[in-house]
Amino acid sequence: MPELPDAEVFKQYFDATALHKPVSGVTVADERVLDAVSPQQLGQALSDRSFQRVRRHGKYLFAEIESSQRLVVHFGMTGSLKYYEAADAEPEHAQVRFDFADGGHLAFVNPRLFGRIALTGDVERFLHEHEIGPDALALSRDEFQEIVGASTAMVKSTLMDQSKLAGIGNIYSDEILFQARIHPRERGSRLSAGRLDRLFDCMREILEKAIERRADPAQMPKNWLIDHRREGAACPMCGAAIETLEIGSRTGYYCPSHQSREDPA
Ligand SMILES: [Zn+2]
Repeated sequence: MPELPDAEVFKQYFDATALHKPVSGVTVADERVLDAVSPQQLGQALSDRSFQRVRRHGKYLFAEIESSQRLVVHFGMTGSLKYYEAADAEPEHAQVRFDFADGGHLAFVNPRLFGRIALTGDVERFLHEHEIGPDALALSRDEFQEIVGASTAMVKSTLMDQSKLAGIGNIYSDEILFQARIHPRERGSRLSAGRLDRLFDCMREILEKAIERRADPAQMPKNWLIDHRREGAACPMCGAAIETLEIGSRTGYYCPSHQSREDPA
């Protein structure tokens, strides 16, 4: 499921392929991906207008149209973007297609229909209405410590709670806790200032490195958990057997040996 690094890579892809050229048409193949907007409204908002710039917030993209409107893109479980030129290069599951006057096309590809396309005139209001908290990479150390340190929920749940900090899901919350040596079931409110500090550093480092490596799991360092997400796999840090746990409806992975609950301080 796309998380912050994947969304950032899609932002860069959108920037590189779809800015500053007039949209000549919008085709919606499946209206179920539209959120509170009709195909006609989408077509009217974009007709003969260009995308000016794209802002990422958490797992969302907001593409500014030459007007007060923003196209909202959320990738859901398996959504992605694909730019192409030849008509026969249209990818499968292109639920929404933006045609440009120069002949190019940008497809919103969404095989499992969990992604969403919307329009908004006010990004801050949209974020508020959808209960999306501050972007994980925009948080200061103090803000992070306040949010996570005040939470009595399990720290993995807090990291994944989009209303608290936006962008982190199952895979990167596991990675951050693994590298910070913190047990996923530990409570944020029980973490010492030192461990909260390390958690913040790990979060930033991991998200930034993942973006640098195009959010491609195959490109991540071999001592990361991401390549060892199998029950019983050897922990790349200490050799113990990786275990799973269920939090919410998600299966998380962690090392029972070096990810501790007790505060060593
Ligand atoms: Zn370990």
